[in-house]
Amino acid sequence: MEADTLSFVPAHAIPEFLLGEIQAKLAYVDEWIVSAQVQPGQIILRLRQAPTPERSLEIEQKVQRVVTSMARGAIRPRAEVLEDVLDRPVPYRSDPMDALLERHEVSQEAPGLFTVGPLLSRLIGFFEGIFLDLADSFEAPPYRFPTLIPASYLERVNYFRAFPHSLTFATHLREDLDVIDHFAQHAHCKHGELSAPPDSFARVQALLSPAVCYHLYFALADRPLPGGRLAATAVGNCFRYEAINLVSLERLWNFTMREIIFVGPKEYVLENRETARQRMRRALEQVGLAYRVESANDPFFIGEFRKQAAFQSAFQLKFEIRARLPFKDSTLAVGSYNYHQDFFGRSLNITLPDGSPAHTGCVAFGLERMAFAFLAQYGLDPEAWPDFVRQNAA
Ligand code: ATP
Ligand code: ZN
Ligand code: MG
Repeated sequence: MEADTLSFVPAHAIPEFLLGEIQAKLAYVDEWIVSAQVQPGQIILRLRQAPTPERSLEIEQKVQRVVTSMARGAIRPRAEVLEDVLDRPVPYRSDPMDALLERHEVSQEAPGLFTVGPLLSRLIGFFEGIFLDLADSFEAPPYRFPTLIPASYLERVNYFRAFPHSLTFATHLREDLDVIDHFAQHAHCKHGELSAPPDSFARVQALLSPAVCYHLYFALADRPLPGGRLAATAVGNCFRYEAINLVSLERLWNFTMREIIFVGPKEYVLENRETARQRMRRALEQVGLAYRVESANDPFFIGEFRKQAAFQSAFQLKFEIRARLPFKDSTLAVGSYNYHQDFFGRSLNITLPDGSPAHTGCVAFGLERMAFAFLAQYGLDPEAWPDFVRQNAA
């Protein structure tokens, strides 16, 4: 074993269906963890440096806390597959990231931050066209939301408890001449990090928004829902800090999400979610994407994970469109069909004409991921793309 590697047996046998979830969470356990590999009977961590015995113990204990919290008593989620064209033949097998970087079609600013050039931008524009057509088919009008979201908003919908690990905070210098002068004279960057006295910064009032649809629910809060039902669409920058899991275009810190959002009675939301899926199925057929739609859960943090994931699964609240990534023999979520029951209606006091809380749901697409998955299946040469895509995106 290398000196900077730590390997031990998990305190609970980890069921197959939790391997990926637990591995993803280990990114947040200790700043020394560079990579984690989770197998049912063994966990292997690579660390920034060789640990002392005390550090080894400390890290192992933190990892065991995650394992125990997530694996003990975990119930296998009800796995349901609604669409399966995962085996659709596709011509490309390489990681498109290599070619994209080589051709300067993308460039990396920092982990999770990428500039995207014309090829991907056109492809994203093409997918946006599909999503806008879908929104039109529901007569869902456009909205525009800020990139920042007030801290008090996220608090009100329990986001701090559910997803603390991926939050991104926005701040500014305190309104104080001395603080601003000092910053102007001395602030500098070292190893990509800004160096300035921590008390230069104001307390956090806002965060970078992790999702799009929340903004709509807040705009509807504390009053009766006009007309008793509503469909809307918006696209926005979303931020999720995914630590060492930030790899290539697959997992970004800053990405773009298009959502179509439904607010109203339960049946209205569920029927529209289903109709959206049927319409997307036809669109994805034309695109030629190899994918599967299957039940899923949100990436809740460890304290909330077991309960919330089981709840989502039992009530079929989330389905993901998982596109095939031939180069790594795995799949990647490019979109999701979500139903929140009356969670937002209750939390935010959005009422239906009969006085009951509104139900909500959204269909959400990750634009960079959609384009990335397509390129992973068809490559960068438009000659090899299905006609429908070549004619509209090249
Ligand atoms: P994952 O399971 O991959 O962590 P998620 O379940 O958190 O994703 P949703 O909350 O359903 O994702 O978000 C809707 C869509 O936004 C996802 O299907 C995906 O396409 C995109 N998305 C989510 N997180 C990221 C990210 N870090 N980078 C790029 N796209 C993302
Ligand atoms: Zn949403
Ligand atoms: Mg997911």
